[in-house]
Amino acid sequence: MPTPKKIIRLAHGAGGILQEELIDFITKDISHKNINGGIGVLDLDDGATMPLHNYDQEFVFTADGHTVYPLFFPGGDLGKLSICGTVNDLLMMGAKPLALTSNIIIEEGLSFEILDKIITSFNQTAEEAQIAIICGDTKVMPKGSLQDMIMTTTGIGLRKNTIKIEDKNLKIGDKIIITGPIGDHGTALMAKREGLNISTNLDSDVALLLEIIKSIENEINNNVIHAMKDPTRGGIAGALNHWANKSNLSIFIEEEKVPIRNQVKAICDMLGLDPYNIACEGRALLSVDPNHAEEVLDKIQSTKLGKGAQIIGETKSENPKRVLLNTIVGGTRFIDMPLGEPIPRIC
Ligand code: MG
Repeated sequence: MPTPKKIIRLAHGAGGILQEELIDFITKDISHKNINGGIGVLDLDDGATMPLHNYDQEFVFTADGHTVYPLFFPGGDLGKLSICGTVNDLLMMGAKPLALTSNIIIEEGLSFEILDKIITSFNQTAEEAQIAIICGDTKVMPKGSLQDMIMTTTGIGLRKNTIKIEDKNLKIGDKIIITGPIGDHGTALMAKREGLNISTNLDSDVALLLEIIKSIENEINNNVIHAMKDPTRGGIAGALNHWANKSNLSIFIEEEKVPIRNQVKAICDMLGLDPYNIACEGRALLSVDPNHAEEVLDKIQSTKLGKGAQIIGETKSENPKRVLLNTIVGGTRFIDMPLGEPIPRIC
């Protein structure tokens, strides 16, 4: 029997262990992986940095492919999602978003009416984010080779070169903050696809994190915020494991503190999914100096988007590289890096 050919599966794109394998495969032979000692492709942060000699600021770049289907979903659409995803990744690096590039790949047969709605939403969200769209490309593919359309973006921002925010920069004793309820985006999309009646008023959380970031600008500049990440594919389980691994410490999460809507819990139960693994598109995780955590939480809670923010846990030295959950019933269990739920086209 010949060995079956190894192929790419949907789960390779789902933000878990298999996706890390795929990224390793793709990046293993790149000869130059960063510039001037900045954050590069192997760091897998939300963006890369390009330090500039003789300047007190550095460029931040982020690249993103947006494949969500259907194009219009409860609470958002492909255009809004594309800008939010890109701008939020820049913000998570402590950068001020400046500009982005936009590539649009369209399936033959898509109506101009639908394209117009997506582009209008894309442009409006970019305006809200005060980010310029400075170049782009369009391609049309034959009918059947792509469903409707996809968009890809590259975001460019600037940050002060004294800012240390990075996935490997968590410190022991840090408090972990989440800026609102988890799992809304992935759950709202899946519920819509599965046609579950319970989903009637659950919307995606897709949103710009600008107001939240503005409220804590001082803390970002003073480096009392050690890391930030938007828990998209792989959910908070993926993001926290990534942090624990790269910072070589453990993260203890208090189950009772983690905000999850009842609808999200119910739908995830029905579909056999874990809300900790489900994508958010308008939430941030922060790892904060414990002496400033309450103050940071107050500021986030004073924003419209951050009302539901909570301190959900802290970092420790025991069990390095692991994420542990203190459960409501009293036990402790590991939260593992998700393998990768094969849920296609949610972001
Ligand atoms: Mg991100």
